Amino acid sequence: MIAENVQNVLKEIAGGNAFGEKITLVAATKTRTPEEINEAIAAGVTDIGENKVQEFRDKYDLVHGANRHFIGHLQTNKVKYLIGKTYLIHSLDRLELADELQKRAERAGWTADCLLEINIGSELSKSGFSLDEGMSAYEKMRAYPNIRVRGLMAMLPVSQDFQQLRSLCLSMRQFYDTIKVQDGNISYLSMGMSGDWRLCVECGSNMIRLGTSLFGPRAYPQAPVND
Ligand SMILES: *Cc1c(COP(=O)(O)O)cnc(C)c1O
Repeated sequence: MIAENVQNVLKEIAGGNAFGEKITLVAATKTRTPEEINEAIAAGVTDIGENKVQEFRDKYDLVHGANRHFIGHLQTNKVKYLIGKTYLIHSLDRLELADELQKRAERAGWTADCLLEINIGSELSKSGFSLDEGMSAYEKMRAYPNIRVRGLMAMLPVSQDFQQLRSLCLSMRQFYDTIKVQDGNISYLSMGMSGDWRLCVECGSNMIRLGTSLFGPRAYPQAPVND
């Protein structure tokens, strides 16, 4: 079942997005066992993302052959466990986190590839910079020598208002294009989960984070927020 789900999604995104860009599938692996994750990798998943540091660490040596992403809210006191181990951290959401990442990464002689997280729906339950503060946050993040900003991440609000979601997605793409023209490191717009990824891709996302569509419903209820 997992293999079939993975292959179906990979087939569907094989043509790239509306901007002619390759789409990267990141399997969101929270609550999944190393066996399930390895099955997804065997079926073609190249990138996996955890949203809790504990799970990231527990599974690190038990899964093989994929780029490791960190996609959840990152507490400052847990940054040390990710140093040298992530392909991409999607949740760079505050300067205090950047300070800690810079300190630890520099000490390790490593550069952290990160996405700036934007709270596109201005939701109290979610972290990230507002779109309005996005540009100034991006410019501040660029000044850290051991942090490399590679793009943007956002989670859409849960809503039935398709037009509103579409317009939020398009404003993310617009911000993405604004920074991309001036910065060759910018390559990823990480936007889209199981319930909304097709809309996101249509609006220019080139990285989607899927859990439920690949692995089925999670065993215990967990809202897709960054905690
Ligand atoms: C869990 C999670 C996802 C995937 O959610 P699904 O709805 O199961 O596809 C994506 N992004 C983040 C940050 C998550 O925590």
